Amino acid sequence: TPGRFAGKTIIVTGAGSGIGRATASRIAREGGRVIAVDISQPRLDEFAASLPDADIVPVAADITDYSGIAAIVDAAGQAVDGLANIAGIMDDMTPIHEVTDQVWQRVFAVNVEGTMKLMRAVVPGMLARGRGSIVNTASEAALRGSAAGVAYTASKHAVAGLTKSSAFMYGPSGIRVNAVAPGPVITNIEAKFASELGAQRVQHAMAILPTPVMPDQLAASITFLLSDDGVNINGVLLPSDGGWSAI
Ligand code: NAD
Repeated sequence: TPGRFAGKTIIVTGAGSGIGRATASRIAREGGRVIAVDISQPRLDEFAASLPDADIVPVAADITDYSGIAAIVDAAGQAVDGLANIAGIMDDMTPIHEVTDQVWQRVFAVNVEGTMKLMRAVVPGMLARGRGSIVNTASEAALRGSAAGVAYTASKHAVAGLTKSSAFMYGPSGIRVNAVAPGPVITNIEAKFASELGAQRVQHAMAILPTPVMPDQLAASITFLLSDDGVNINGVLLPSDGGWSAI
């Protein structure tokens, strides 16, 4: 039986590791052509080699620069059915009186501007075809103040805004835009603790953390929203967190 993504072209960022890799893998195994984007060429090579029979187009690119966005759009072509914006980075758990410009700017460049620039690049083609599905990656940090430092928390709240505004604007044109809000997932993401206050406060909140899950569990939620299974869902921030958001 054909999978949910048979005949479809889907761009997946962060495809070299963690949630992005699990999502790219699932889309490919369900028959999709995956434009697999990551800043790390070795991670992409390893991913592509793990699925030799799948339709995977690896694109080593940085989503924060224009040449990176252009390379992704070139590889994907005119007919893009879906975009999963999954690449993202953590901050260093600093509260606002300790955050550096460097941390703030890089976190916003990847998590917010990278997501925005790829959405902006694919939406015109989706408007022309009258259909498309976009899934962004927010976080529990888009729902609460206790999951990270100020830069990451603010960046994921911005991802929620990108998602809801675009869902509202393009819903009538056949484009759905949703976001997933993952709880703790075992991946390669790095969280350092550069602040004593940040460490103390976030570790306090971690007392109510659910057990971390594997990236496949997020791929299940993301592909649900991305595929036609999500047909009537637009503009949601779907917690995929084993119930953390209910606390
Ligand atoms: P990960 O580090 O395992 O994977 C992220 C991938 O994105 C890496 O392979 C990295 O090379 C790539 N990447 C980073 N910057 C890039 C750039 N500028 N251009 C292109 N690729 C880039 O992390 P993950 O945990 O799988 O994270 C995926 C998403 O999930 C992120 O948006 C993260 O904020 C979000 N998230 C993760 C968790 C968690 O517990 N792991 C929780 C909530 C949200």
